[in-house]
Amino acid sequence: MTFKALLVEKDEDGKTRAGVQDIAEDRLPEGDVTVAVEYSTLNYKDGLCIGPGGGLVREYPHVPGIDFAGTVEDSADDRYKPGDKVVLTGWRVGEIHWGGYAQKARVKADWLVPLPEGLTTRRAMAVGTAGFTAMLAIMALEDHGLAPGQGPVLVTGAAGGVGSVATATLAALGYEVAAVTGRPEQADYLTDLGATQIVPRDELTEVTRKPLERETWAGAIDAVAGAMLGRVLKQMMYGKSVAAIGLAGGPAIEGALITPFILRGVNLLGIDSVMRPYDDRLRAWTRIGSDLPMDKLEAMVQPATLSDLPALGKDILKGQVKGRVVVDVNA
Ligand code: NDP
Repeated sequence: MTFKALLVEKDEDGKTRAGVQDIAEDRLPEGDVTVAVEYSTLNYKDGLCIGPGGGLVREYPHVPGIDFAGTVEDSADDRYKPGDKVVLTGWRVGEIHWGGYAQKARVKADWLVPLPEGLTTRRAMAVGTAGFTAMLAIMALEDHGLAPGQGPVLVTGAAGGVGSVATATLAALGYEVAAVTGRPEQADYLTDLGATQIVPRDELTEVTRKPLERETWAGAIDAVAGAMLGRVLKQMMYGKSVAAIGLAGGPAIEGALITPFILRGVNLLGIDSVMRPYDDRLRAWTRIGSDLPMDKLEAMVQPATLSDLPALGKDILKGQVKGRVVVDVNA
């Protein structure tokens, strides 16, 4: 028995090559649940893993895909039985364990959650790791006191995957959303998702020497880091929080001083979606099922097949992908 997968191989010169291949089922990695994958998605990390790996992949040949949704085919764990619909994000699947860019995946039962009420497998992947992370960020901000009516919430990297879901969900929850984008042509897209203010990226990428700037944002979700996060921290209202989820603009926090923390009591909350315990994942997915504006979700989706992924992987690393790429692994 074989299944189709996007396999990344490394040649003797250390160069990687990704292509769709038929793979024998007995090559699947160890795990207690085998899933017939229906949909996966493209995330920034997938771009790295489809290409040279960015230090994430340990062994080749490798099947990337850091998330998937599908139907249990076979299970050695009491929590799942054949026919159950399941979702996977994180646990380094698609990095050090074969992932979702395949018609079959075998994983640990602990890494799965049951498909939440209100979602299909396709919708779950329209959300995917990016949307799951956006929800974790919103939940962290709310745990630190954010509520609608306090002022605008800033979302950086807004036309990207995390940014799109964060913008739409915050707006649906009644927040005023200011969306930062480097792509002015995506302003209408972001306004349709619910942003009430579009902030050009350039306004926040110049490193300044000012210790603080005007108190502007009641909360922020930052996918970019670099100079942008340094500026955002200095513009937060007193006592408010920034949820840092990514580093699309670089791994440093440039130009940041200690002043936002000690003179304004600003909180910097680190959000990690990978090693989240089961209860956390279930809580976030249940809120996604209930709070995410499903009518907005389709506008974010770009459909793709396994063979589209090598080119799309390059695009996402250049910050050129809009919204969420949903991969139908059987197309
Ligand atoms: P995308 O590529 O879809 O979105 C990133 C967006 O950031 C781009 O669309 C672009 O938005 C903006 N951007 C890109 N490059 C730059 C730059 N040099 N300077 C300023 N802005 C830039 O990626 P995702 O949304 O999937 O992920 C975003 C980040 O979050 C990545 O670093 C990813 O690794 C990380 N991540 C972290 C997770 C966690 O668990 N903490 C989970 C998921 C993702 P625009 O064109 O609108 O400006």
